[in-house]
Amino acid sequence: LKEHNARSIWHPMAHPADSQANPPDIIVEGEGAQIIDVDGNRLIDAVGGLWNVNLGYSCAPVKQAIAAQLDRLPFYSIFRGTTNDAIIELGEMLRAFFAPDGLTRAFFTSGGSDSVEIALRLARQYHKVRGQGGRVKYLSLKKGYHGTHTLGASVNGNANFRTQYEPLMPGCFHIPAPYPYRNPFNETDPQKLAQLCLAALEDEIAFQGAETIAAFIMEPILGAGGVIPPHPSFMPGVRELCDRHGILLIADEVITAFGRSGDWTGSRHWGVQPDLMTTAKAITNGYFPFGAVMIGGAVAEVFEADTTGKAAIGSGYTYSGHPVGAAAAIACLKETERLNVKDNAAARGAQLFEGVQALMAKHEIVGDVRGGHGLMTALELVSDRATKTGIDKATIGAVHRATYESGVMVRVSGPNIILSPPLILSETEAAKIIDALDAGLSAVA
Ligand code: PMP
Repeated sequence: LKEHNARSIWHPMAHPADSQANPPDIIVEGEGAQIIDVDGNRLIDAVGGLWNVNLGYSCAPVKQAIAAQLDRLPFYSIFRGTTNDAIIELGEMLRAFFAPDGLTRAFFTSGGSDSVEIALRLARQYHKVRGQGGRVKYLSLKKGYHGTHTLGASVNGNANFRTQYEPLMPGCFHIPAPYPYRNPFNETDPQKLAQLCLAALEDEIAFQGAETIAAFIMEPILGAGGVIPPHPSFMPGVRELCDRHGILLIADEVITAFGRSGDWTGSRHWGVQPDLMTTAKAITNGYFPFGAVMIGGAVAEVFEADTTGKAAIGSGYTYSGHPVGAAAAIACLKETERLNVKDNAAARGAQLFEGVQALMAKHEIVGDVRGGHGLMTALELVSDRATKTGIDKATIGAVHRATYESGVMVRVSGPNIILSPPLILSETEAAKIIDALDAGLSAVA
């Protein structure tokens, strides 16, 4: 299989030859928060699929709902003039679920990148509807990740995801992220840093001209960029600047929506209601590719009151509103609420965060640990703690390997080891993740 993989498949975010040098682990089964590889090794999945399998791999109600929907109606489009009953039921559920975030309408997609694309488009269109067609630019955070489509890639903070494809969308500008461990201000105090980043955002708005900016997009807790929770003053400060300058705030909650951060959305931690919210991943837990852009009440009103025709939505996927996706999402949402997974995410997240702090005290190679908001935890490895010199790929790869051999799958993303296990993780499984990481880090000591 490994040989066949190398000759027939290119993997995302990897050099095409990488799978020959580093054959990937072949996963063949999943159960609860655990996976089994082709050689029969059972592992705790501390990656949670890819931050998405919140309910684990054997959620019976989701499987039954998908099977029943496949049997009854496998597909019907919701393009103008038709719809299906499953998507209407889901729309009502999401409207209730996201009411505390001020979000009242859903636009359905097939995944996170699609959701980001739609949200960024809707932001421009919103301004056009209001007669402010000059608002076309986007602002975002330097450590942000917003997917793989052209608009999303343009606002991605990491230049590695942009440079091969440039020129991307002009008019996208990236603001320093409130990342205390490394930032251009050399400021380690999170609150002072938040103020400096907000000042940088304000400067950028003034420099570009507020009347040219459509939206600011941010993850309420930076995920793929290395799990970076901002100081509590940051997102409210962004909200205030956006309000003052007529800029829409898009919360990219592809990772954080549905409980991963220990609350139902990331924005709720900071008491912020965004204008638009992107979701995907845990909306269907990996059981079906699916996503939704949630639209704020005030934005919806502007579109719905338009009489000029400018608010007609010119975007849509064949699979916007897929009934099987809807059935999966309905079942996932019911289970998510029934099990109240956000509380277990908070408890197990606190356990993991404490565990990685202890690992940092023990292992010189750990330069920084971040977490404290549900099951989003990262360890940033360094080759020299004093100078914060980065780690080489081989060393972090060896930590990954040794952790795997101790029975835990973790994700390596640049210099970070990321822990984002299913939200149904048990206390014993959380303890095992820390023990395996301890063994992994010891292997390179
Ligand atoms: N936004 C964020 C915050 C993400 O983390 C991701 C994926 N990790 C995306 C967008 C893109 O989602 P997808 O991979 O489903 O297209």
